[in-house]
Parts: sequence; structure tokens; C-alpha cells
Amino acid sequence: MFKVYKSLGWFFKQEWKSYLMMAIMLVILSILPTIPANLLGRAIDLIVNGNINSSSLFLLVALLSGVPLFGYVVNYIYHYLINAEGHKLTFLLRHNYLEHLFELDAKNYEQYTKGDLISRVTNDMYGLTNAATGLLQTIVYNSGVIIFTVSIMFFTISWELTLITMAIMPISIFILTILRQRMRKYYVKHRVIYSEMQEKVLETIEGIRTLKAYTQEENDFKKLKVAIDNDIKSWSYILKFEALFAPLFEFVYAISYFLAFAVGTYYVINSKISVGDLVTFTMYIGTLFGPLAAIGGVLGSVNNSVIANDRYQEIIKLKPEVTDLEDSKRICKFEKIEFRNVSFKYPFDRHCVIKDINIVINKGETIGIVGPTGAGKSTLIRQLLRDYNITKGDIYIDDEPIENYKIEDVRNLVGYVPQSHFLFKGRVDENIIIGNEGATIENVEKALEVSDFKKDLQFLSQGLNTMVGEFGSTLSGGQRQRLSIARALIKDPQILILDDSLSAVDATTEQTILKNLKETRQDKTNIIVAHRFSAIKDSDKIIVLEKGRITQMGTHEELLAQDGWYKDQYIRQTSMPE
Ligand code: ATP
Repeated sequence: MFKVYKSLGWFFKQEWKSYLMMAIMLVILSILPTIPANLLGRAIDLIVNGNINSSSLFLLVALLSGVPLFGYVVNYIYHYLINAEGHKLTFLLRHNYLEHLFELDAKNYEQYTKGDLISRVTNDMYGLTNAATGLLQTIVYNSGVIIFTVSIMFFTISWELTLITMAIMPISIFILTILRQRMRKYYVKHRVIYSEMQEKVLETIEGIRTLKAYTQEENDFKKLKVAIDNDIKSWSYILKFEALFAPLFEFVYAISYFLAFAVGTYYVINSKISVGDLVTFTMYIGTLFGPLAAIGGVLGSVNNSVIANDRYQEIIKLKPEVTDLEDSKRICKFEKIEFRNVSFKYPFDRHCVIKDINIVINKGETIGIVGPTGAGKSTLIRQLLRDYNITKGDIYIDDEPIENYKIEDVRNLVGYVPQSHFLFKGRVDENIIIGNEGATIENVEKALEVSDFKKDLQFLSQGLNTMVGEFGSTLSGGQRQRLSIARALIKDPQILILDDSLSAVDATTEQTILKNLKETRQDKTNIIVAHRFSAIKDSDKIIVLEKGRITQMGTHEELLAQDGWYKDQYIRQTSMPE
């Protein structure tokens, strides 16, 4: 638990004033419950001794009603403060987590599932926030009440009676602590099962249309049920164990209470303590039940917080491999990009997906990339986005290794339209402006014109203001592609990469977009990955990639003049009836 508080140290440091105030209030709140018992004991002794009068009775009544009222006010302020701190901490932890996720690289993302990453920032976060709020309060407040009450019992009533009645408590708490520490592994296991369940729910929701199309609802529901059942089973195992603690604790407490009453009566008979002392003492024992039960139960929350902290810190401590150098160079334009003997292997793969790639891309050129499916075309062009570090060889931008430039600048050179488009839930124009926050409405219109999306606006109920469903679900495949192209174009990038981004548009639209690109991006570079030859045949240079290697390179005419994959495929495609 110390580790948890150490990792939250920055927050306590920042919020020390609030925590100091809350600590003072907790001390007050832990002292207050002992006062009524004390007052009642005194009253009884006054009555027994016949010393009660109207003014002392009035004072007693005033104190007995004033103490809870004062406690109520302190409690209110305390809870207001602790809730505010809890919200602040949740916000900061989530903010830091998400900010850190942005700093990570593709390799890090491949290590975790979406469900797992989400559960670490939702479910686990409560365990962590609880450590700095509710749990801390439970520990401090209840320890305060126990220490204070037991001290009063020990020093003001009878140290012998206190020892006799209280000795059994620490032993039971010690046993519970050991048992609960052993339970920790089941809590860890439950978190993993919970993440798997979350991942399955996400997958089902995302894939609901596909599942319905393949009438797989029942099969998927079975898988979903297994995931949910596993979660319930693992949690109910923990609950069963937790349920053992409450009766065990009540049993130990009942023994203490019996001892207090029996031995206390014996002490009264022997005039070691007064009747009032015995009443106060047994009331103190009553006061202790809640705090002792809470401290006994705290260990379950401690397990939760320790695991939550480990899972949160695991992500926060991840370090990206793709990072800026200390003296990274800035770049906003280029003349020449050169791949020199570039090979690349995905982090969790054994073999290189692209091998010994040597190409030169000049400013203003249009490059076409073709090849069989799975040949490594996307992998090749994505090297310009610096998702991963290159395995062998290097890419040079104006004769400087790509690693020497600021990552953000390199990415800003590129407008990348991926194979699988991601559209955000929001308006059409919002989805485009993501490409360039400073874009004007004229820029948006221009981008829509070049991507040939403008003609579609009339079919959208509110034009540019039409809401795009999650993942662009309310648009057609071709509309999604062109919206993504518009998003890349609004950046007016030095290099536009269309990664099979014209596959869902008809031949006429494809030709319109290519013509528009040629006209508007004369001094800029375009890289077009395609399976349809019509999309790349006018390129300045066409690269044929097979099994990760460049097997042919040249213009359309040059490649048709050679025997090889390009000619073969071209003949097949063009001789096919439309
Ligand atoms: P297509 O024409 O079908 O889009 P492609 O030529 O663009 O294919 P890539 O997407 O680059 O091919 O994939 C090349 C190979 O790399 C494939 O075998 C693929 O399974 C593998 N691959 C792609 N992404 C990853 C990844 N993140 N981790 C491991 N292997 C990957």
C-alpha cells in the first residue's frame, strides 16, 4: 500500500493544504464519538452519587445535542472536500493516462487490447482514486477513533480491563490481513478476466452489423455469455471469501463485548471501577465496532488499490521506442526522400515484411505502388509515418536520416489516407477539419471539390453539418473514402499517401479525383497504393512489390514492355469485362 501512496505522492504534494484541513477534520471527527459515552458515564455517576442539579443537567443536554450538530457541520465540509479531491484526482489520472497513450508508439499499442486499455482507465481508476479518498479516510479516521477510544479506556477507566477485552482484536485483524494478502492473486486474475469481458463486449458492439449479416448473433452471444460468466464466477469467488470475514469479525467482537461486560461487572463489585465507568466502557466498546469492522474490511479495498495502481503504472511506465533526439532537426519541406536498403520487421514477428528497399521519391513526383495482396505495400509507405523504427537500412530526407528530424514534423509532411478509414462521431466538416485545425470554410470546400465529395453533399440531409455516425456508419464506403481524402487534402501536405483509398469509388470518380490531384498538387508528391491499374498508370514512377521486395520499377509503358507481374496483371485486369 505504501507503493500506492508513493506513486500518488505528486497529488498529495500538490493538494497538501486540502489534505491538511481534512486531516484536522478527521481528528475532530474521530474524537467526537467518544464524547457522548463520556458524558453519559459522568451523568450516571452524578445521578448515583445524588450530585445532579438543573444547571449540570442543562449543560449535559446542551453538550449531548451540540456535539452531533458540530459533527454534522464538520462532516459536511469534510465530505465536500474529499469528493472534490476525488474528482480532481480522477480527472488528472485520466488526463495523464490519455496524454501518455498519445506518446506511445505502435509497438506499445500492439501489446494491449482496447478493452484492457479502457478498463485500466475506468474500472481500475476507481481503485486508485479510492486510495487517495475513501480508503485513506477509512484508515485515518477509524485508526484515529480506535487509538483515541482505546487510549481513553486504558488511561481513564482501567488499563487491565482494556487489555483483557482488546487483546483478541489485533490477533483477528492480523489473521485477516494474511488471508487477504493471499487473496490478492484472485483480485489480479479477476482484473484480467474483467478486461477480457470488456474487450468481448466492445467487439460485439463494433461487429454487430457483421454478426447480423452472417446470422451469428446466437454464436456470438454464447461467447459473450462465457466472458460474462467468467467475470461473474471470478468475482463471486472473491465475494464468497469476503463474506467469510463479516461473521468472523462479529464473532470476535461479541467475545470482546462479553469480556468487557463480565470482567467489568466483576470490577464494579470489587469497587475497581464505578457503575458509570462500566457504562462508559461498554459504550466505548460499542463505538469501536464500526471502526474495527471498517479496518478489517479495508484490506479488500487495499488489494483493489494495489492492483489498480500496478495496472495503471504499467501503462504509465511504458516507454516508446520511436522518440525524438535531443537535437532533432525541424523540417517543413523536402526535395528528395531516399529509401536505402530498408528492411522492416514488425515487433512481434520473426521475419522482415519488406526487404532491401531502394527507392528515390522526388518532390513533385507521383509514385504508384502495386503488387499482390500482403506484399508489404502499406508497410512500405507507413515507414514515412515513423510508426516504428526501421529494422535495417534507413530513409533519408534530403540526405539526412529520417530519425534526425522531429517526429511531428515528419508526420506533418504527410497526409495519409489509410486503407481502413476512421471517422469520428461528429459533423462532416468537423471530420475534415481534424486534418488542419486552422482551416477556413473555403479550404473545406476546396478539399471537398478535389476529393469529389461535393456532389454528395446534396444527398446528406444537412450538407456539411450532417452528423457522421460512429466509424462513419451513416456514409457509403465511397463517401467515407473521399471524406478521408478531403481530411488529408485540407492539410495541403507535401506528400499525399492514398493507401488503396480509391478502391470503393467508381471509375469515373477515380479519374476525377486523379485529375484534380494532378491539377492542384503540381509541386507536391503523391504516393498511390492501388490494386486497380487505372489509379496508378499515369504515375511518374511505378513500383512493383512482391513478397516484400521491389521486383520492377518504371513508368507504365516501361513496365508493359517487360515480362513480369505488372504486365501479367495488367493484361488480366484490362481483358476482364467491366
Ligand atoms: P494489401 O494489398 O492486402 O493491403 P499490403 O501489400 O499492403 O496488403 P501489408 O498490409 O503491408 O501488405 O502487410 C504485409 C504483411 O505484414 C502481411 O503479411 C501482414 O500480415 C503483415 N502485417 C501487417 N501489419 C502487421 C502488424 N501490425 N504486425 C505484424 N504483421 C503485420
